[in-house]
Amino acid sequence: MTFDDFGLQTELLDAVKASGYNTPTSIQQQAIPEILNGKDLLGAAQTGTGKTAAFTLPLLQRLAARRPEAKRRPVRLLVIAPTRELAAQIHESIKKYGANLPLRSGVVFGGVGMQPQIDRLRKGVDILIATPGRLLDHLQRDNLRLDQVESVVLDEADRMLDMGFIHDIRKVMKKVPASRQTLLFSATFSKEIRQLASGMQTNPVEIDV
Ligand code: AMP
Repeated sequence: MTFDDFGLQTELLDAVKASGYNTPTSIQQQAIPEILNGKDLLGAAQTGTGKTAAFTLPLLQRLAARRPEAKRRPVRLLVIAPTRELAAQIHESIKKYGANLPLRSGVVFGGVGMQPQIDRLRKGVDILIATPGRLLDHLQRDNLRLDQVESVVLDEADRMLDMGFIHDIRKVMKKVPASRQTLLFSATFSKEIRQLASGMQTNPVEIDV
């Protein structure tokens, strides 16, 4: 199997080639077609498996397929990650894979000033990557709306539970539309993770790599 078999648009295939990838990894082979079809997905995957490209490539394709008419650029893809390092890393990957697409992205995490993030949010981003606490902070201060979100990714959900972010995540999920695509990735699947997933997903496809 090659990346050409997914039906991804040229802009994305060029970015994949520029990254030097020849063959999709196992999670990419399994997840990309399902995500392109709009399915919810529950993925058991560690870092290093190619997980980030597995969700980013199909979600970018879906975002690029439909441009909102609004002049304001509402957040349409929300990625939530446990740490600022992971959030920044996902942002870099999204910029790399989306380099040839007219989409804008931003990242918000704690431990740094609010104002530069507020300025970025005001200018409008199609894609937002965030850690849970700072995301909730921006929501509660009305710096951000999530009412146009089409897809949500929870990355390393097990770590987010371990770090005590469950309440923040539940609050955030109340602000996104009920009809959305939800992807959840976790290294392990405890009872708590399954509970969290079942409360926010509809008939998810399960992938284990
Ligand atoms: P991730 O699991 O998303 O953190 O990705 C792990 C590493 O694998 C990253 O450095 C990616 O750039 C790289 N990678 C992702 N997909 C592929 C692929 N299909 N072929 C080779 N390397 C890849």
